[in-house]
Amino acid sequence: MITKEVKLGCKGMTRPLIIGGNNPVTLQTMWKESITDIPQNNEKLERTLRELNELSFLGCDIVRFAVPDMESAKAISMIAERTSMPLVADIHFDHRLALECLKGNTAAIRINPGNIGSIENTKRVVEGCRDNGVAIRIGINSGSLPKDLQEKIAKGEITRAQGLCETAVREAEIFEQLNFNQYVVSMKSSDVTETIECNRFYAQKYNNPLHLGVTEAGPLIGGVVKSSIAFSTLLNEGIGDTIRVSLSSSSENEVIAGLNILKECGKRKGGVTIVSCPRCGRLGFDVHAFVDRWQARLLAMKKDITVAVMGCIVNGPGEGKHADIGIAGATDKVIIFKKGKIVQTIDPKDADKVFEKELNSL
Ligand code: SF4
Repeated sequence: MITKEVKLGCKGMTRPLIIGGNNPVTLQTMWKESITDIPQNNEKLERTLRELNELSFLGCDIVRFAVPDMESAKAISMIAERTSMPLVADIHFDHRLALECLKGNTAAIRINPGNIGSIENTKRVVEGCRDNGVAIRIGINSGSLPKDLQEKIAKGEITRAQGLCETAVREAEIFEQLNFNQYVVSMKSSDVTETIECNRFYAQKYNNPLHLGVTEAGPLIGGVVKSSIAFSTLLNEGIGDTIRVSLSSSSENEVIAGLNILKECGKRKGGVTIVSCPRCGRLGFDVHAFVDRWQARLLAMKKDITVAVMGCIVNGPGEGKHADIGIAGATDKVIIFKKGKIVQTIDPKDADKVFEKELNSL
């Protein structure tokens, strides 16, 4: 089912990001630091802006910030004023924080009517979002379902996935009653099957855009595995308009993981494809270290090329012959090859410098 389009933006934003419909699946991450002290810390503001810029180059479309207090609400406005990255303010319990964020250029508010008190509070936030052209994201986690649904789950009357879906429907109904449809829904579980099922249930009946995520997915490797299974299953069924790989790791790794999932699911085209060998006893070149150093830089490049990083000359140029450029160990030397042909044989200490030069010449 084609979902409705939801505009992430605000009055001050010249090019709002459209989620849903036939638009590309967007990629998001969450900021990993408190921003409470940003109004008093210009150096941190500048660093935050630089890092947002790097995430944008890498392919990140949206960044969500936790907004637990008024200082953070002021901080997100200061950041939003100086970045083109659409920012989402993540708010629990206090609708006044949402109203404060709406004074700045925040593109979306993550808030659940069910946890901000009265319907009057929800109305104030909805009217503020409507006036400013700001979207809302409903975020349901398996750990915070309403009591009646928890009881039904405990009695085996419904599954947890059904409970997640029902909770999202209840929250969404409040927005619908207020005639507000600029919202995205997310239902998250740390269990892959539950994540898949609750999103399927929702998508069968409703056409609001869905944000996919496996919550508390875990450390880098385990989290990437869980998210890859959940997202690829759903994306291949046409479910999901925006994703976040949630990891106990850096935002950069979340974005790199998300990018790779989108690419492998055919949802994002172009850019640099890295093929690299796992390394073995034949290695003449530290593939792992080179990939660690170059991965983010290569992915941020706007070139549609394949780059091969291989440990040895025995298999390197052969296995990487389709690569536009490759680098491989050759006993005590390093070779650089293009489409399988060796173009440079160099000392390992010059590898980065010469590789960069050859890369730029493509
Ligand atoms: Fe081993 Fe060479 Fe293959 Fe890398 S390219 S896995 S070092 S044989």
